[in-house]
Amino acid sequence: MHELYLAQELLNQVLQSVSDHPDAKVCAVEIEVGPMKQIVLEAMELAWRSVVEGSLADQSVLHQVEVPITAQCRNCTRTFEAAIDSYQCPECRQADVQIMKGHEIILKSITLEEIKAGEREQGASH
Ligand SMILES: [Zn+2]
Repeated sequence: MHELYLAQELLNQVLQSVSDHPDAKVCAVEIEVGPMKQIVLEAMELAWRSVVEGSLADQSVLHQVEVPITAQCRNCTRTFEAAIDSYQCPECRQADVQIMKGHEIILKSITLEEIKAGEREQGASH
């Protein structure tokens, strides 16, 4: 199940980006998902819920936005939107393309919520 691995990687990235906000917790994370990654969105959501447990992003909502594949024709250099099973260039009809976008997960935004004083004291051990 590679969603679990991806969710873990994403969480690491999120925690790293919020490391300079110690008084906040993550309440939502938005990502762009390329279709080349072949992620099952439901599985990704489940994976996310299991990896965030006990972390700063515990209870956070994962928003996944599917983005189209962007391909560039190697023949005429035209950039176009491709489908996962259709890479034909609309300009010259060649199917020799380079995938520019669509095989990655991009962290778009993180929504933080300030931890209330009471909650913070509860979490402190000294
Ligand atoms: Zn072309």
